Amino acid sequence: MAEPPRENRDTEREEHVVGVRTWIGSWPVYRQLTGTDPLGRGAAAKSGPTARLEPRVARADRVVKSVCPYCAVGCGQNVYVQDGKVTQIEGDPDSPISRGRLCPKGAASLQLTTGGAREHQVLYRRPHGTEWERLDLDTAMDMIADRVIAARRDGWEWEADQVRTRRTLGIASLGGATLDNEENYLIKKLFTAMGAIQIENQARV
Ligand code: SF4
Repeated sequence: MAEPPRENRDTEREEHVVGVRTWIGSWPVYRQLTGTDPLGRGAAAKSGPTARLEPRVARADRVVKSVCPYCAVGCGQNVYVQDGKVTQIEGDPDSPISRGRLCPKGAASLQLTTGGAREHQVLYRRPHGTEWERLDLDTAMDMIADRVIAARRDGWEWEADQVRTRRTLGIASLGGATLDNEENYLIKKLFTAMGAIQIENQARV
C-alpha cells in the first residue's frame, strides 16, 4: 500500500505532539511544578469540568434590587431574572443592613415566588363547608368589603365608661412576618381610620 503524502504525515505528527502536550499540561502535578500554584491548592488542582462551571446567575438578563419579605430586619436581596422568570434570589452586598447575608429563611425565598405550593387563586370555604371553592378576585374583594362594613357597624362604640371612644371592637388585624414595613404602615393607617384598635403583628415592627 502506498504511503500517505509527506505533508499529511507531518500534520499527523504535529497533531500527535499537540495531543501529548495537552495531556501532560492537564496533569495536576505538571501544572503544580510549572505553574503559579506550587502547593496545588488552586489552579493546579482544578479539573476541566470545574473550570467550565459558572454561577447559576451568570445567564440572568437583569438583577432587581429587593428586600426580604419575611421579617422586620429587612435584609437586601438581589433578584435574578431570566426570560421574564425569577431564577435566583441572593443576598445583596450593597445593603448596609445585611451586607450580602441572608438567614436560611431569606435564602430560601426563591420558593416563595416559584414554589409549587404557592396559591395563585383565591380559595374560600363557606361556613360549615368542607371543601375549598375558587373565587375570582373581584368577588372575594366585594365579600371582604361587605364583612368589614357589617363588622364595623355592629361592633361600633361611641362611648365606653362615659368616655368618648368612637371605635369598633368588631375588627382586628393580626399581621405576619411576610408583611414588610410599608405594608404594615398602610394596614395600621387603614384599620385606625376604620376605628379599629386591635392591630397587631407577630414580627414586632
Ligand atoms: S427573614 Fe432572614 S433574611 Fe429575611 S429579613 Fe429576616 S433576617 Fe433577613
